[in-house]
Amino acid sequence: MMSLQGKVAVITGGNSGIGYASARDLKAKGAHVIITGRSAEKVKQAAADLGVQGIVADVSDLSAIDNLVAQIKADHGQVDILFVNAGIFAPAPVGQITEEMFDHQMGINFKGAVFTIEKFLPILNDGASIINLSSVNAYTGMPNTAVYAASKAAMNSYTRTAATELAARKIRVNAVNPGPVTTPIFEKTGLPQEALNDFAANMQNRVPLKRFGKPEEVAKLVSFLASDEASFITGGEYNIDGGVAVLT
Ligand code: NAD
Repeated sequence: MMSLQGKVAVITGGNSGIGYASARDLKAKGAHVIITGRSAEKVKQAAADLGVQGIVADVSDLSAIDNLVAQIKADHGQVDILFVNAGIFAPAPVGQITEEMFDHQMGINFKGAVFTIEKFLPILNDGASIINLSSVNAYTGMPNTAVYAASKAAMNSYTRTAATELAARKIRVNAVNPGPVTTPIFEKTGLPQEALNDFAANMQNRVPLKRFGKPEEVAKLVSFLASDEASFITGGEYNIDGGVAVLT
């Protein structure tokens, strides 16, 4: 039975969806979990529901990450598991991509991820596990997702190189590529319900298993990669997508 007893695990964007399910799973396996998020109210509520520590930090604000790291260092000293999960989905067709949308999406999904890792490195234990939440969308050519897909492709490329460099400290770095998963991320786009329904039907139709994944299914893969069971796995990308990737 996999155990994460005594490990300190940080999840960015842990108040919702995949991050929330992962907090529950990591905690159930014995980890001491800290979730983060942008909204003080949501972080407080989720942390209370899960029985974990919650700290407010916007990953697109580098000084907020500095404060987060300082607080975790003061509370726990070091970190064993860093789940770089925070992300947004802002679809737009090529031809209607604005600079604001580009900077916002890249700023959270890619720049936020890179600097989360930069700033946590000094307090990561040698032998720590970093898990980057990417997307199978990096490879699928799904319409209206060019910038989102590129932000995740960048994450996968970054993961491979970071893994080779951080191996010197026995830190493992892996990426997880989910297919469509039922979470609030789609509602947060602000698209009208009819457009969301069409989008969901289109995505589901592209999945060989003909359904969306559940956050809990992704959480199990995250916990595995976080654990010593995955001690020889680094620089990898793991699709958890109901088979989407094999059709691309
Ligand atoms: P979600 O909206 O439920 O969760 C996203 C989390 O990220 C929330 O906790 C939110 O507060 C946090 N977040 C967003 N911007 C932030 C910021 N600037 N600073 C700190 N936290 C921030 O959505 P989810 O589906 O659980 O998404 C989690 C990750 O999974 C994202 O990186 C997303 O791109 C990725 N993903 C999702 C799917 C899917 O179909 N749901 C598929 C592939 C990849």
